[in-house]
Order: sequence, then structure tokens, then C-alpha cells
Amino acid sequence: MSGGDNLEFEIRPNPAPVGDAERAALLVNPGFGRIFTDHMVTVRYADGKGWYEPRVEARAPIPMDPASAVLHYAQEIFEGLKAYTLPDGGVAMFRPDANAARFAQSAQRMAMPQLPVETFLQSLHELIRIDRSWLPTSDEGSLYLRPFAYASEVFLGVRPSMEYLYLVIASPVGPYFSGGVKPVSVWVTPDYTRAAPGGTGAAKCGGNYAAGLSAQAEAIENGCDQVVYLDAVERKYIDELGGMNVFFVLDDGSLVTPPLTGTILPGITRDSVIKLAGRAGRKVEERPVSLAEWQEGAKSGRIREAFACGTAAVITPIGQVKSAGDEFVVADGGTGDVTAELRKQLVDIQRGRAEDPFGWVH
Ligand code: PMP
Repeated sequence: MSGGDNLEFEIRPNPAPVGDAERAALLVNPGFGRIFTDHMVTVRYADGKGWYEPRVEARAPIPMDPASAVLHYAQEIFEGLKAYTLPDGGVAMFRPDANAARFAQSAQRMAMPQLPVETFLQSLHELIRIDRSWLPTSDEGSLYLRPFAYASEVFLGVRPSMEYLYLVIASPVGPYFSGGVKPVSVWVTPDYTRAAPGGTGAAKCGGNYAAGLSAQAEAIENGCDQVVYLDAVERKYIDELGGMNVFFVLDDGSLVTPPLTGTILPGITRDSVIKLAGRAGRKVEERPVSLAEWQEGAKSGRIREAFACGTAAVITPIGQVKSAGDEFVVADGGTGDVTAELRKQLVDIQRGRAEDPFGWVH
């Protein structure tokens, strides 16, 4: 279902880009996901035709028929990755090939056509090239890239759409947490689950996030920053956070993280942490961890640290854990040494400040 390899992008520069002074002002404190660059990528798809009309054009609203399939049945997938300014002034993306592969897997799960990996990568390169002036040069800023695709056929029948639109938009972002890394508090939801075996947990589809909003609201009502999901079958094992994977650091310095059994998102940061820790000689186990093990381990000292990881916040310590019947702290509620060490190693590679042993920086 792919087709359309080696597409040639047509470049249509925005005739009215944001002026230099205004852009500079916007980049001072961009926040997250509120400011966008001057351009976007669009590529269309139709059954029998494949991918066609690849373009870089002025970012603008997309006209949409009210009967567009995505508005009714949520056939939609997305990705998220960052581009950074390097010390030498160049620009780099972190593991975009891994995002391309995950995008293809998400497409397969949602019965959507797969965009060729080369087209995905090229679309990112083209957008960065034309909107390069939007890259924050600050130490902690980056350009967040959001590739996505949705069912655009005008049809109300429940079956895979025969037409799709792929787009990429870009948003300059500041540090995820202003004022440095701060441990987050998490709420283990007793009411909601995120994904059951056979469901869409491993796909990055919009519907997963819509279904998580009530759980995240519950976390906030309980005074926590983020929600933690338990497995949907036994309601016993830690799956992941609303938008991040989770790791535990044991008293022997080894790491444990829940396995990829189809109910959690295979995070690229997760994979990077596994590889970096392994290279540093740490043992990393992918196995189920129950909430009870976490509670007991935090109290006995067997579990020294816990952290969440993902593109947005990189690696974030988990300080406090609340659940319906209990409350405890990890690493005295602060940032553990192993968490801090892994975070520094990863950020330094991403920003071109350290050797890149795995060839992750493009
Ligand atoms: N889990 C979920 C549910 C997510 O949305 C994300 C963010 N993409 C992650 C984990 C972390 O994935 P990554 O490291 O690829 O950003």
C-alpha cells in the first residue's frame, strides 16, 4: 500500500512570512505548541494513485468537508520529534528514522497506507530547510516537528478511508520545565485504563490521547502532574504515563522498564535509554513491574529512583506517587543520580555536545 517513493517536493514559499523582529520576539519564550512556523508539508494519498502532490507551502487552515472520515471515526496517526541547533550552528534531528518506522507501524494498525520512510524523512528535511530561522538558538530550545496523517475521504461508511492527507507542521518550543528539571508527581488511576491487549496502545493514534484526557484530569484533581496507567487485564502492573514511558532504578544500579507487549507506546527515548544504559554496563530488564512492587520497593529502598521519558521532557524524575489507597515518595522526592546521569548523556548527544556512539543524530 505504499507507492510514491522518491517524491519530488514542490516548494511554494509563504508570500507573507512573519517578519524578523516579530519572530525574534516570539522565540524569546515560545512555551510548548502554541507558536508555529511559516510553512507546512502536505502530501495527498488516494487508493489506486498512491502518494501524490508533495508540497511545502504556507501554513494555513485546511478546508475540510464535514463528512470527512477522520471527524467521525478518528482514523488518524501522528509523530513527534525535535530538531536542535548544534554548537557549530548546524541543525540536527534525533533518530528521525525511528519515528518514520513507528509512523509506518501506527499506519498499519489503523488500516492506513504507509508513507515511505524516505518521504517521511525528506518531508522533515524540507520543512526544516525552509523554516530554519524558527529554530531557537537558546541552550534548551528546539523545533518540535509534528508529522501526522488523517482519513480525508468524504464518506460516512465505517471502513478504511480511500483518501488521506499527510502533513508536517513545526513549532518552536522552550525548555519543557522552566527553571530546570523538577520531579513530577504521578497519579495511578484506579478508574481508567489506556490500552488492552489487541488494542491500539502501541500505535500513536489521536484516539488514544482523547481517551486519556479524563484520566489526566483525574490526576490533576488529585494534585498530580501526570497520570500512570495500570495494565487493563489484571489492573496490577505499571504500563506507562499519559505521554511518557517509565523506568525504575534498583539499588544495584540496574534498570527495569515494562516490556513492549502491545499495550504501551514503544518510545524512542525508552529505546535510547536502554541502549545508553547497556553501553555503560548497566543491566536493563524489560519485565512487568507491579504497583505493589513499586510501593514496597520505594519503602524498602530496593527501588531507588523512577523516571519518565519521552521526546517532550526527555527524562523526568518521578518524585511522588499517589494512588487510591496510598501515597509514597521515590528518591526522597528529588532527582536520583542515575536519572540525572542518563538525562545528561542523552541531552548531550541530542545537542551535539557529546560523541554519538549509535549514529542517532541526523
Ligand atoms: N508513551 C506515550 C503514550 C507517548 O505519547 C510518548 C510520546 N511520544 C511516549 C510514551 C514516549 O515516546 P518517545 O520517546 O518516542 O517520545
